[in-house]
Amino acid sequence: MNYYLYALAVLLLILWYNRVKFIIWSPVLAVFVYLGCPDKMGIAVYLTINILLLIEPIRTALISKPLMALIARLKLMPSISQTEKIALRAGTVWMDGEIFSGRPNFTTILSDSYPTLTAEENAFLNKEVDEVCRMTNDYETSERRDLSPQVWQYLKDNHFLGMIIPKQYGGLGFSALGHSAVIQKLATHSQALAITTMVPNSLGPAELLLHYGTQAQRDYYLPRLANGTDVPCFALTEPLAGSDATSIRAYGIVFNDNGVPKIRLNFEKRYITLGAIASLIGLAFTLRDPDGILGKESDLGITCALVKSSLEGVVQGRRHNPLGIPFVNSPLQGMDVIIGIDDVIGGMDGIGQGWMMLMESLAVGRGISLPSTCTGGIKLSTKVCGAYATVREQFGTSIGNFEGIESVLGHMAAMTYMMDAARIFTIGAIDEGKKPSVINAVMKYHSTELFRKTINDAMDIVGGAGISLGERNLIGHAYMGAPIAITVEGANIMTRTLIQFGQGVIRCHPFAYKEIEALGSNDAKAFDVNFFAHIGFALGNMVRMILLSVTRGYIYLPKSSGVARNYERKLMWTSATFSFMTDLIMGLFGGSLKQREMISARFGDVMSYSYLLMATMRRYKEEGYSKDSEVFMKYVGDHALSNIQKAYDDIAHNLFSGILFAPLRFYMRLNRMGRPANDQQLHRLATIILTQDEKRDALTKDVYVGKQLALLEEAFKLHNEAKPIVGKMKKAIRAHALPKAPFDLLIEEAVKKSVISKAEGSTLKKAYLLKQEAIQVDSYDVSTFVRD
Ligand SMILES: Cc1cc2nc3c(=O)[nH]c(=O)nc-3n(C[C@H](O)[C@H](O)[C@H](O)COP(=O)(O)OP(=O)(O)OC[C@H]3O[C@@H](n4cnc5c(N)ncnc54)[C@H](O)[C@@H]3O)c2cc1C
Repeated sequence: MNYYLYALAVLLLILWYNRVKFIIWSPVLAVFVYLGCPDKMGIAVYLTINILLLIEPIRTALISKPLMALIARLKLMPSISQTEKIALRAGTVWMDGEIFSGRPNFTTILSDSYPTLTAEENAFLNKEVDEVCRMTNDYETSERRDLSPQVWQYLKDNHFLGMIIPKQYGGLGFSALGHSAVIQKLATHSQALAITTMVPNSLGPAELLLHYGTQAQRDYYLPRLANGTDVPCFALTEPLAGSDATSIRAYGIVFNDNGVPKIRLNFEKRYITLGAIASLIGLAFTLRDPDGILGKESDLGITCALVKSSLEGVVQGRRHNPLGIPFVNSPLQGMDVIIGIDDVIGGMDGIGQGWMMLMESLAVGRGISLPSTCTGGIKLSTKVCGAYATVREQFGTSIGNFEGIESVLGHMAAMTYMMDAARIFTIGAIDEGKKPSVINAVMKYHSTELFRKTINDAMDIVGGAGISLGERNLIGHAYMGAPIAITVEGANIMTRTLIQFGQGVIRCHPFAYKEIEALGSNDAKAFDVNFFAHIGFALGNMVRMILLSVTRGYIYLPKSSGVARNYERKLMWTSATFSFMTDLIMGLFGGSLKQREMISARFGDVMSYSYLLMATMRRYKEEGYSKDSEVFMKYVGDHALSNIQKAYDDIAHNLFSGILFAPLRFYMRLNRMGRPANDQQLHRLATIILTQDEKRDALTKDVYVGKQLALLEEAFKLHNEAKPIVGKMKKAIRAHALPKAPFDLLIEEAVKKSVISKAEGSTLKKAYLLKQEAIQVDSYDVSTFVRD
């Protein structure tokens, strides 16, 4: 080969890497073929193919139309039901689109919003939220199985139940970030308090009225919801309709009541939060109009209405017991309940729009409520464990000094940093009016899973102090509540295996949905344009994947600074690989991809860890690429990449067998994307939460410090103050100036022998007393403990 050919080959790779259009690289390839292929026949074949591909009408007639027919015959097209279409259209594409693009734009990613609270929201967080936490004795609440009447009143009077309602209607008009911060802090003190406040502010009557209500409905209901006159609930789930909410059996029949059309409702709901005490039920049901009274079709579809619980036929008397967490959760029944058309959310226009309303609201809600509750729980675990592992001594030293504990603490610290970054980054997008439904599903899944892992780790660290329930137990109820977060708003197995990637691949892929629509409407022209753009996209991604892999990402010039540059390169590489593989499995499985949940789950893992890493990079940038944040960035980066690598390994192991896939198998083994963080990193991270300073405070910001946690923090502080004094005692023991015995028993003697001063002696005594106090657990008189 001569040098021209080398130069042209490089030029072609550059063009393909940058995914330029076919019309640009095709002539370059033509010259390459002409110079490299003396066989005139070869050139003629190439030119014919080129003409075929460049002239749209010819291409459509000769390739696209026959291909469409083949796809239809082989049933390769995924069938998308009307309800799935609504779910897919419910959200907007955001960072998920960047991941699917194969070429994420880091200038956009790193400059996207990373918001802070307003002064008003901050003030509320530090005054009203602190006050309601102070008023709430979590253990007592659990014993009486409800918040106290005073707490309920305080919540209503201070508009906790109307945080998302605009000020003009008497609500607090908080941003999504403000709302999130309140829920997060409440969750650090009491799950019951957080869930009770969370539900009216998430998917429910207020949210639905704000977006779809008539003006008359808003004017009447929103002020009542804002000041607690009405307590709302939202009733969708039924015994036969859980994850598959489209199969609800609740129904309404339109009938004529003396010339006025009305709706007769029958329903049996379960698991409804606040159901037993709600005065206003947001109800989802299917509406039928068998007599054509409304002049539309007889089957009107899923509809949402506001049902006053005082109406005849509503049955509210019972409660569930959700793992002992004392928030109100209930079955709810309705027998021949009569409502007007005006009670349908949105009035006549809202009829049959229920599914769209639910999907759109859920698309937003999944990014706020549960990620906030769970981040609160994660921060609480981190704060408690840092202090407890210092104060609690076994084998003559703080348990935090043992490597086994240290490794758990280090991971906990990094995950706290990551999840808070993702919470704020996602909420920044929501506050800008985006509805990133796929990312919100990622947030729901990861925040709840991470909370489950962290609270389990915390339970291991605090040992019996986590298990013995009572006023002194700081994390027991949070542990008990973890499965609730996993189950609600789309149970996690389904969220991981079906929703994350399953929705993402159709919603965020630049061409997939357009192709499906073109196939569905038999539009050959639209199919042709998208299909060939898709082929170019996939080939470009293949070249990018290979080039980024062999150079380990160094071919790309990162936009970030500090240690993030390395992860940005890897994310660029990951995204190209992910996009190429996505196209590959779409080609392999076609319409049956939806049923391949095990594969879908692993693709979902790649996508979600990519997002969590991006969010962490955004936080790291916001913190000025500081030295203090570096340790978090590095750990999260390594953690995310090693999980991505594991997902790719599992995909390759399960999909790429046989001779056909040998090159791909080879490629997958060639170069590893990342390895888990090392022990040194864990040690550095653990030290941060084992040290009572501003770094630990920043990591666990907005944890409510109640009486018991304050005691633990004080014991932690005194333990550190006493350390040098203990050092003096140890020295004296080694020099045989003091006998070998527990230090707390030696204080008097040490003072007497001037090993330590009197003041030091009293500091040490105080430290030991506080330590003892902080590690106590509750116990109960047997005669009152065992109930008849
Ligand atoms: C404490 C609590 C509060 C709640 N509050 C409300 C409320 O206020 N209003 C309301 O309407 N509802 C509420 N719910 C209902 C909640 O949203 C449902 O529990 C949830 O939708 C799951 O339904 P299910 O429990 O019946 O589980 P099921 O639907 O029976 O699911 C069981 C398991 O199967 C898995 N699964 C199902 N389909 C698939 C699939 N295609 N692929 C893979 N896995 C799948 C799920 O992930 C889950 O792990 C609440 C539930 C609880 C527990």
